[in-house]
Amino acid sequence: MSEALKNAVATGIDRRGQTEVTDRVTAIIDDIRERGDAAVREWSQRFDSWSPPAFRLSPERIEEIVSEVPRQVLEDIEFVQDQVRTFARHQLNSMAEFEVETLPGVRLGQKHIPVERVGAYVPGGRYPLTASAHMTIVTAKVAGVERVVACTPPIRGEVPAATVAAMHLAGADEIHLLGGVQAVAAMAVGTESMQSVDLLAGPGNAYVAEAKRLLFGEVGIDLFAGPTEILVIADETADSFVVAVDLLSQAEHGPDSPAVLITTSRRLGIEVLEHIDRLLPGMPTRDFAEPAWRDHGEVLVVESMDEAFTVADGYASEHVEVLTADPRQALTRMRNYGGLFLGEGTCVSYGDKVIGTNHVLPTRGAARYTGGLWVGKYLKTVTYSEVVDPEASARLGEVCGRAARVELFEGHARSGDVRAAKFAGAPLAW
Ligand code: NAD
Repeated sequence: MSEALKNAVATGIDRRGQTEVTDRVTAIIDDIRERGDAAVREWSQRFDSWSPPAFRLSPERIEEIVSEVPRQVLEDIEFVQDQVRTFARHQLNSMAEFEVETLPGVRLGQKHIPVERVGAYVPGGRYPLTASAHMTIVTAKVAGVERVVACTPPIRGEVPAATVAAMHLAGADEIHLLGGVQAVAAMAVGTESMQSVDLLAGPGNAYVAEAKRLLFGEVGIDLFAGPTEILVIADETADSFVVAVDLLSQAEHGPDSPAVLITTSRRLGIEVLEHIDRLLPGMPTRDFAEPAWRDHGEVLVVESMDEAFTVADGYASEHVEVLTADPRQALTRMRNYGGLFLGEGTCVSYGDKVIGTNHVLPTRGAARYTGGLWVGKYLKTVTYSEVVDPEASARLGEVCGRAARVELFEGHARSGDVRAAKFAGAPLAW
């Protein structure tokens, strides 16, 4: 039995709010589909007060913007992109392509083909999310994506210079200063000035995530990656100050970001609540973190680590930090999470900004059925077959004829019959 020291005010999905988001996003997508660039411009003006002569940055303008970015910032971008690239390359190398002989003369194979055109959304409404450029674009390029079209919004009318630099250094082929649903829809359906892409990738707010969800089918999407979530599992060995700081570190993403602590120690839970009450008023990003903690913060005390892992699995949180005596237990005891952070030496902020695992991760329960963005999301795993032994094809043809007739597929059956006859040297009949 768990005890709630702090309950979320609004737990679960707000259905009414979600319907409003869906209706608004649908209207914007339909308008862009119908009126193209003119609609993109109007929505950008309405939501971002942004309507430059062209949303796409020229190569000269990109160079100019990059030259304004301090050297240390550029070096840090390069360092982080190296970490992301190294991990993504390792993922790529671990993806086997193979050809196997399942029967004599029957060859079956598997290959990975990169998606040709990707639309990478790099969020930037509240903060310039420079790191999302590394995650979406570097990973796409490692996968072998030929053309990456990247969009990011202006921040309160300003060019996010470090983000543009990160997009450029990551290898984006086009950079557009355009945000929100209008960017996602333009990339997916295409306009006079934007050629449509095959797959959309990247995180974003509730509108951006919903736009991707609604456009899925017409284009591919990486995953549902909406407002950030954190869940910390801590026992009595954890440092309550570190737990409090880490919960707040993710609450600052926005007022809709859940932050949950599950602990086997009542004392630790109470200390964490005290630390947060003390730290929040002085937090520079309090405007986002305070409502997030007030409405979506939870502290649960459970009886055992077993219960902690079971309850945590139920949340299927985007990020799970494990601050316990034996954090690696989570590797075998948990199944639903976007990213695991084991022990005090690492943290969600490392995953978000620096360590090299991808920070585009599933939210709102999507971790029940998918992991985060990785090189494989940009690859189509396809198969092929070849039969080089006529006897084998004749044998398959006989089985195919019978199997297809069970399903009443006479046309399929005859494709099998023809081969069974041809490769057995018998005359062909229809
Ligand atoms: P954003 O770029 O996602 O969204 C900004 C855009 O939203 C603006 O350009 C504007 O056009 C549009 N918008 C704003 N208000 C609107 C409205 N009322 N109706 C329609 N469109 C509107 O940037 P953000 O808002 O700062 O959000 C970034 C989000 O990304 C955060 O919620 C953060 O938690 C999330 N995130 C998620 C992950 C993940 O992997 N799940 C990773 C990083 C960030």
